[in-house]
Amino acid sequence: MNSSTLPPLPYLQAYSPTVLGQVRQLIDQNQLGDYLARKYPERHPVQSDKALYGYVMEIKQRHLRNAPNLDKVIFDSKLEILHRALGTHTALSRIQGGKLKAKKEIRIGSVFKETPPEFLRMIVVHELAHLKERDHNKAFYQLCLSMEADYHQLEFDLRLYLTQRDLLANRSPQDKS
Ligand SMILES: [Zn+2]
Repeated sequence: MNSSTLPPLPYLQAYSPTVLGQVRQLIDQNQLGDYLARKYPERHPVQSDKALYGYVMEIKQRHLRNAPNLDKVIFDSKLEILHRALGTHTALSRIQGGKLKAKKEIRIGSVFKETPPEFLRMIVVHELAHLKERDHNKAFYQLCLSMEADYHQLEFDLRLYLTQRDLLANRSPQDKS
């Protein structure tokens, strides 16, 4: 394989060369989109901040009732760039930013309005876990798993989804046919 033609995979940097090779193969064979469409055919109706608040509170009530109360839950279009969010495992939420510390907020990137429901759930679980664990440590992922048993697979597939989304966005119209 000619390394100069390898697509960059910014969302998948934490994964092994073997996994990256498999992903690149899917991309080369134009199968990544089909894989995702087959596995995640549904979309969800959570399109407003109000609906998102209700959605988040339902999961919180069920799994994290004793976590701090939330003052605000919104979609944020400025969180489109998820490279930093998920890529380097720094904070995705703004909960721990100094100024917002007193006010517990969950901001979900607007991109999640369009995703399959599984990915919205995954990112909400991730954010809720941050109410109790600031860092991405073992306790944090245990919390995620307690809310969503498929958490790790969903996070991986979300990264594939975002990769595919970038590939489509960067492809010129002529290439699409
Ligand atoms: Zn996080």
